Amino acid sequence: MNDPLDVVTDLYAQYVNPGLARLMSFAGFGLESRAEGMYVYDQEGNAYLDCLGGYGVFALGHRHPKVVEAAKAALDSMPLSSKVFFNEKMARLAERLASITPDGLQYSFFVNSGTEAVEAALKFARHYRGRPVFVATEGGYHGKTFGSVSVTGREKYRTPFEPLLPGALFVPFGDLDALNQAVSEQTAAVIVEPVQGEGGIHVAPPGYLNAAAEIAHKVGALLILDEVQTGMGRTGKMFAAEHEGVQPDLMTLAKALGGGVVPVGALVGTAEVWEQVLGENPLLHTSTFGGGQLACACALATLDVVEEEGLPQRAAERGQLMKQGLQQVKDAQADLIAEVRGIGLMLGVEFAMDEVAELVIAHMLKRGVIAAYTLNNPRVIRFEPPLIITEQEVDRAVNAFGEAVEETAGLLQAIESGGVN
Ligand SMILES: *Cc1c(COP(=O)(O)O)cnc(C)c1O
Repeated sequence: MNDPLDVVTDLYAQYVNPGLARLMSFAGFGLESRAEGMYVYDQEGNAYLDCLGGYGVFALGHRHPKVVEAAKAALDSMPLSSKVFFNEKMARLAERLASITPDGLQYSFFVNSGTEAVEAALKFARHYRGRPVFVATEGGYHGKTFGSVSVTGREKYRTPFEPLLPGALFVPFGDLDALNQAVSEQTAAVIVEPVQGEGGIHVAPPGYLNAAAEIAHKVGALLILDEVQTGMGRTGKMFAAEHEGVQPDLMTLAKALGGGVVPVGALVGTAEVWEQVLGENPLLHTSTFGGGQLACACALATLDVVEEEGLPQRAAERGQLMKQGLQQVKDAQADLIAEVRGIGLMLGVEFAMDEVAELVIAHMLKRGVIAAYTLNNPRVIRFEPPLIITEQEVDRAVNAFGEAVEETAGLLQAIESGGVN
């Protein structure tokens, strides 16, 4: 048992999560040892092209030098916050977010993860008018703490933990009639992702988000836009809200905000909501670690990089190229692949049947490309590489995918004709 991978697999089995250990071993994942730019390296020094990008965390790639530099400077001065002195980094970051997020969003509350940003959004919305009901979407994903999972649209993750927040209603994503019927004077907020990530990469139909805002506002409810995965350029715009110019009342951010170096999340909202929720008691909702110096320094550096390197534009261009490539693979394998969809570098390939995605992922890994399926829809492989991906790397990823699908198709055919024993 001297092989380092065996040792760690065994530690997982004994001390972390036995089922997860089996799942990861089955897929063929090794031991991560370091990462840089587009690549993750295993214990033997093999490089893997990262087409998962940490579910959207690594928009800038791994260990972007500017963010690492900002992190080192913060470590050498003050990584966390005293919480009593004024924190300039946090104030500057809040100002920056106000200037780049949709009109009307002015204030920020900082947290350490996506689900904490969603929790804050739900609490703020609940307090805003004292109403109980949240309207969310089927297949939507907002995190796994109690509040967030209460509005996450997959029963498998909710049922074992009931009773959850009362009064969550689910409507099909993209269905305005259903939304209109579900929203009432009891509604605190409508919560929605502009592109459902874990639900299987579903882009909101044109005009849907603006109409959702209108439906919510008509009864005095809020629109919470969950941009935890879509924010920071992923979809070809800094925020996916920009595609149709929607103005949410609350917006959640996390994943890529820390530049792939530190965890940081934020709830950004209107002055009206802030006044109502924090006006009387500024400490009504707080976080010990949220808004730390290190986290805010990294987020500021991340925003600089996203702008300097034109990452939203790159995501749009390289995403187009990648989508075309994936589409060609679909055309060649029409029996196996049902659909290619997505926007920018948030792309999904849906297979026509279950359990194909797992095999394709394993075959891609053998070819040195990391991919994964979406949490709420295991038939869909997601392509969310760092936005710094080159055209050659797009080609490489698409070729690896094409070969992996071909190999899987061959395997399935052999099984069908009884040729495998
Ligand atoms: C990942 C994700 C979350 C949860 O973020 P965590 O950091 O995992 O808690 C919430 N909303 C969306 C849209 C996400 O993609």
